[in-house]
Amino acid sequence: MIEVKNIKKNFGKHSVLKDVSVKVEDGQVVVILGPSGSGKTTLLRCINFLENADSGRLTIGNLEVDLKKSTKKEILNIRRRTAFVFQNYNLFANKTAIENVMEGLVTGRHVPKAQARERAEEALNWVGLSDKFNYYPAQLSGGQQQRVGIARAFVLDPEVILFDEPTSALDPELVGETLDIIKKVAEKGITMIVVTHEMSFAQDVADKVIFMDGGIVVEEGTPEVIFSNPKEERTKQFLSRII
Ligand code: ATP
Repeated sequence: MIEVKNIKKNFGKHSVLKDVSVKVEDGQVVVILGPSGSGKTTLLRCINFLENADSGRLTIGNLEVDLKKSTKKEILNIRRRTAFVFQNYNLFANKTAIENVMEGLVTGRHVPKAQARERAEEALNWVGLSDKFNYYPAQLSGGQQQRVGIARAFVLDPEVILFDEPTSALDPELVGETLDIIKKVAEKGITMIVVTHEMSFAQDVADKVIFMDGGIVVEEGTPEVIFSNPKEERTKQFLSRII
């Protein structure tokens, strides 16, 4: 279970998150939708301490921390329980696919190299990259790079994976294959928060859809309710523009 309570974040005078609370049960997939600038990415980044929130509390499993006053040990503990999949993949350009997937295991988790390699090979096989172990990111397509990014997150066996618009940098023909891998991750029962504009993915995979606008959660519900019967005017307007 992951729960964020009353998170606030300003950038200067700009209030980007104005008291946002989100709860995701074990094994649930939550999709966050919303217009550009609504605070979706900032929310994910605060959960993983890639950004420092101004206030709020975060619970993952049995660990609860104050997002503003957390200790280094708590931050490390939260990072151990989460993994992040970035819009622009964020792979190490000077490392091969297998080295990228091993990195977090070896440096973050202190897994011996031989064992890390074995697990990384398994993860890359699982995302369909068995023939690309020794390729560098520049030698891979965007879709393949993102699959390395997903393998790198998955191999850590996190309690929660945070996906930040994982397909929005991809050419349209590569989106489907990447979403298929993300669906495979969901089928493993891993708790996931996915920021995406891919409505059909949300419809197929999400247990809950959250619509954000202007730094607040405007509305949340099952995909059926949000897509067919949204209550709030802002949700209706947003959906009418993109569906
Ligand atoms: P998109 O769908 O375009 O990615 P988003 O909903 O994910 O948008 P955020 O990326 O969270 O929105 O950004 C919310 C607001 O915060 C934007 O106005 C953005 O310019 C601002 N912002 C984000 N990061 C920073 C930063 N490091 N410094 C200053 N302002 C920032």
